[in-house]
Amino acid sequence: MPDTLPASLRLHIDRAALQHNWLHLDRMSGSANAAAAVKADAYGVGVEHAVPALRDAGASEFFVAHWSEVSRVAVHVPPRSIAVLHGPNTREEADFARSLGVVPVINSLHQAQIWSASGGGRCHLMVDSGINRLGLSLGDVGAAIIGELEVDCLMSHLASADEDSAMNELQLDRFASVFGVIGHKRRSFANSAGIALGPAYHFDQTRPGLALYGGVPRAELANDIRQVAYPQAAVIQLRDIEAGDGVGYNATFVADRDMRVAVISIGYADGFLRPRGPGSSVQWKGESLPILGKVSMDMIVVDASASMGLREGDWLDIPFSLPETAAKSGISQYELLTTIGNRFDRSTI
Ligand SMILES: *Cc1c(COP(=O)(O)O)cnc(C)c1O
Repeated sequence: MPDTLPASLRLHIDRAALQHNWLHLDRMSGSANAAAAVKADAYGVGVEHAVPALRDAGASEFFVAHWSEVSRVAVHVPPRSIAVLHGPNTREEADFARSLGVVPVINSLHQAQIWSASGGGRCHLMVDSGINRLGLSLGDVGAAIIGELEVDCLMSHLASADEDSAMNELQLDRFASVFGVIGHKRRSFANSAGIALGPAYHFDQTRPGLALYGGVPRAELANDIRQVAYPQAAVIQLRDIEAGDGVGYNATFVADRDMRVAVISIGYADGFLRPRGPGSSVQWKGESLPILGKVSMDMIVVDASASMGLREGDWLDIPFSLPETAAKSGISQYELLTTIGNRFDRSTI
């Protein structure tokens, strides 16, 4: 007996689309190089699939958030090309970075002290220009310990790049105000949306994540960014119900006629969160099968009355255009991707 069986969920990853998206964002970045944000298992797409494709397209720098994410990425690319956004908060993390050659992103005086005390060396430095999340406060940039750092990329991160907000220019000005204070080799500012804000935001390196995987955070990207992830789920049961029968928890759908319904092997534990149910459909050979009732943890139920050829075991396409699904469900494109989960058999097409 095999110890695992194929899943009743599949995620097809369109390698050519992923590579196209990176190349497009790199081209849009002008003379800056586009790195790739591959944190959170490459936004749910899967590091094993995304990182080799991005590397082969030409990406040469990769960002993860956690130290625990390094090893899976380092299978595919050299450690010196991997940077860790959360930075070192313990001596152990600093030693780990140095022993592998992974690049820490320093975000605070505390992290600068830890990195220097452990022996220092090449690092990136994140300054906070207004998102008030992770990053060195502008008031701390003149500290002696910062002057000791060997900064490769001086970085900052935009809070509202997906909007036409006055915040963008304000952050740009604040970022520029530290250039003369902190020694550095390169500058990096823009995420996916920031790339579309234009050349003033590009500097030496851009850091797209979302748009690599098919997300469209700004209209300027809509025509050129391609869908990357295509989920499919299997029919696990077909049943006939009668007028008056309820479907799913709390019977929020009640049939007004006799119907044939199909139970599909995808639920909120697979990132198909409840707001994605009402008013939506799944697809079978171009036919739309409307979702009925509440989304369960492991299942949804759809109306298959019009699809008489459908059989148990058939595969249905789960619509996953990120801008469309986000607009319809109110779930962000980032959340749609990063909640995909681990029950899918991922494969590259
Ligand atoms: C996640 C992240 C990115 C990528 O942002 P997207 O909006 O997904 O393109 C870039 N920089 C930092 C610091 C991040 O945390």
